[in-house]
Amino acid sequence: MSEKSLTDTAFNVAKAFEKIKKAALESGREPSEIRLMAVTKTVAPEKVNEAIEAGCNLLGENRVQELLEKYEHYDKNAEIHFIGRLQTNKVKYIVDKVSMIESVDSIKLAEEIEKRCAKIGKVMDVLLEVNIADEESKSGFDFDEVLSVSEKIMEFPHIRLRGLMTIGRFGAEIEETRHYFEKMRHLLVDIRAKNIDNIYINILSMGMSADYELAVAEGATIVRIGRGLFGARK
Ligand SMILES: *Cc1c(COP(=O)(O)O)cnc(C)c1O
Repeated sequence: MSEKSLTDTAFNVAKAFEKIKKAALESGREPSEIRLMAVTKTVAPEKVNEAIEAGCNLLGENRVQELLEKYEHYDKNAEIHFIGRLQTNKVKYIVDKVSMIESVDSIKLAEEIEKRCAKIGKVMDVLLEVNIADEESKSGFDFDEVLSVSEKIMEFPHIRLRGLMTIGRFGAEIEETRHYFEKMRHLLVDIRAKNIDNIYINILSMGMSADYELAVAEGATIVRIGRGLFGARK
């Protein structure tokens, strides 16, 4: 038997996996369809590595600078997705370090990803970020433009569109959030129907600490959890 006691982080990861499984089974889904992402902003790499060791093999990074500082200290068996606002002049620093950019919120950003990935001979998986609650303060495409944007993005040879990402409205009631998540699920179906080359368009990244069980019930395939794994941020 292991001498090590379970750290808080390991305990929280196990609990999150358990809740994801329960929410999946209750809505008739296969638990293995859903990935748990550990959102690492402000969290020390040693603590992030505890989550990896506990079986969470996907990290979510918000800030380029923070990623560059912490990258070397992470266990290398985890995959990294970028999930934060990304300035075009910073794309070059991360294209070799992340396997997916979930926060594509403009054609201009997609063009820069295309250019930088062409240079290193990589095809980058991306999600389109959708500003589902139409909030002034949030980035992301308007709901109504996502379909036409998806067709444009599909034309970039070094980008592979995988699906959609959204952040629920902070402080929303449960029924409002459910409505947003449902709209996201339907939008993904519409995108698949519009694009012939659609077998890879199967990712819905939605749900955070406060609402991930609901997101799973509504079709999420990635849930992004920060505080629920690592505790409150400073
Ligand atoms: C911070 C953050 C999360 C995680 O939020 P928690 O409430 O800590 O679970 C998820 N997605 C994005 C884009 C974030 O910035």
